[in-house]
Amino acid sequence: MALKMADFKTDVHNDWCPGCGDFGIVNAIQMALAEMGVERDKTAIFSGIGCSGKTSHYINTYGVHTLHGRVLTFAQGAKIANPEMTIVAVGGDGDGLGIGAGHFVAAGRRNVNMTYIIFDNGVYGLTKGQASPTLKLGEQTKSLPSPNTNYNVNPIGLAVASGFTFVARGYSYDVRHLKDLIIQAVNHKGLSFLDVLQPCPTYNDLNTRDWYAGTDLMDEAQKRHSRIYKLEEHGYDPEVHYNEEAEVNERLSQALIKSLEWGNKIPIGVFYKNEIITPYTTRLKDKIPNYLENPPAKQNISKNGIS
Ligand code: SF4
Repeated sequence: MALKMADFKTDVHNDWCPGCGDFGIVNAIQMALAEMGVERDKTAIFSGIGCSGKTSHYINTYGVHTLHGRVLTFAQGAKIANPEMTIVAVGGDGDGLGIGAGHFVAAGRRNVNMTYIIFDNGVYGLTKGQASPTLKLGEQTKSLPSPNTNYNVNPIGLAVASGFTFVARGYSYDVRHLKDLIIQAVNHKGLSFLDVLQPCPTYNDLNTRDWYAGTDLMDEAQKRHSRIYKLEEHGYDPEVHYNEEAEVNERLSQALIKSLEWGNKIPIGVFYKNEIITPYTTRLKDKIPNYLENPPAKQNISKNGIS
């Protein structure tokens, strides 16, 4: 029997603040899982620590609430141990791009076939709004005593440079568009990354819903326009179509340049997609024949390798 979005909800009490962008992201994940028709006992949500860490409690699949900055290690391990599972890892920008930055880069190099979603709000919401790695230099949210003294990390650029083979950005208040991105990310053959812009109304009074909607902007006709626009509506092609260095470099370059766009125009959609690169589990399979039936843990591992 086909499952509905409601089948992916739980009765765990949700204590996110009213108006938090996290709600839209969880709704989009639930909608995507229902639309894809995944089986709940073959799907697992892994979460890190932070407000977004509670996500694994709110989605009715297997769920694992892991350690700060370490969600990718748990999630990759699960996928490698059981490649038949659909694995989605989630966490905040502080979790994934601060303490978890090393794992982020290492995951890109592996290209395990799973999805990682960052709830990107520029602050550490769970611990009262300190500046996170994506807050820009000089910005001062209401929770900071003085302007931020650090330059920010560019999540899209870092993902592209680290080797993620599907890199996209969504917006938590455009739930249907985000749902479509999640479906593309989960169906991608390789490691997919979604940076989701997620207003935190409690601690970040700069990147608010109104700010993203561009209520302070006027165009030539003196009408406000949203800061956010969709790449796919502007003829942007993110995909590597054939395995030649020039083609790959061109797609990587355009994604990196596009990732720098911020301010009055903020792109969402797919920045980069490459299904030509072999996923880690396939490479592992080639290296260790029959590893699914005879996992490395059960084999005789010696100094000279697996025999
Ligand atoms: Fe959401 Fe911010 Fe509240 Fe955390 S502190 S639940 S991110 S609004």
